Amino acid sequence: NTGMLKDKKVWITGASSGIGEATARRLACEGVSLVLSARRVDRLESLAQTLRSQGVDVMVEPVDVSDRQAMAVVGEKLKAAGGVDILINNAGTMPISPILAGRVDEWDQMIDVNIKGVLYAIHAVYSGMVERKNGHIVNISSIAARQTYPSAGVYAGTKHAVRAISDTLRKEAIRYGIRVTDIQPGAVATELPDSIQHDKIREAVKANMYAEGSEILKPEDIANAIYYAITQPAYIDVSELHIRPVIQE
Ligand code: NDP
Repeated sequence: NTGMLKDKKVWITGASSGIGEATARRLACEGVSLVLSARRVDRLESLAQTLRSQGVDVMVEPVDVSDRQAMAVVGEKLKAAGGVDILINNAGTMPISPILAGRVDEWDQMIDVNIKGVLYAIHAVYSGMVERKNGHIVNISSIAARQTYPSAGVYAGTKHAVRAISDTLRKEAIRYGIRVTDIQPGAVATELPDSIQHDKIREAVKANMYAEGSEILKPEDIANAIYYAITQPAYIDVSELHIRPVIQE
């Protein structure tokens, strides 16, 4: 516990599982107050209950990040509650498939959640941070923000977009003393592959991730990376962190 996060309000999107949940748990002992968002209310509530029993102040704000109106409402609510110091912009989905499969609805969904959702969350907190001349926005892109794979064209496109948006926002936000970090994980053992609707691709991705003898990242590893980025002294901006399992090319 560095004491650097004491009394900071941290909003985590996609907090109902995986990296978002691990980040909430990682930050719980740091004296932060947490706002947890995702769609699965039961998962958020049970996590909140656990964290509250550890003495953490937790607000649960269920929302679909791709719902522009709903995100604006959450934004107003957070502003009224005193604003957000740190946004962990983590919600994402990965229903990948070859482009020839023409799964246009899934392309729309990835663009809506992974790009628009990230922008709506930024929009909800950024002006408040500018007013206070203080804040940190952490976007979770991916190793797919830097390289692409067959079947992952649209997903990689959304993650390249997140990286581009992060870098632009960082340059614009410098004058307000606001920091921006883009985290680029490689394979992490989470529920993310379950969002793949194309059966063959889903099974192939899982078989590859969980191949015998291969050790991929745990959600806690990325939570630690996020923790590192947000606990640096105010003059340091950890702009990008690219973290992969040793076995991943
Ligand atoms: P999970 O599937 O465990 O977590 C995804 C989270 O996003 C869940 O909490 C889910 O909650 C939430 N979410 C999905 N869609 C929406 C939506 N429309 N509105 C609100 N919340 C939503 O996977 P990860 O923890 O792995 O994913 C977290 C981030 O990390 C994602 O952006 C992902 O792209 C990125 N990432 C993951 C990697 C991996 O290998 N696992 C590698 C690189 C990046 P709910 O369903 O309750 O809404």
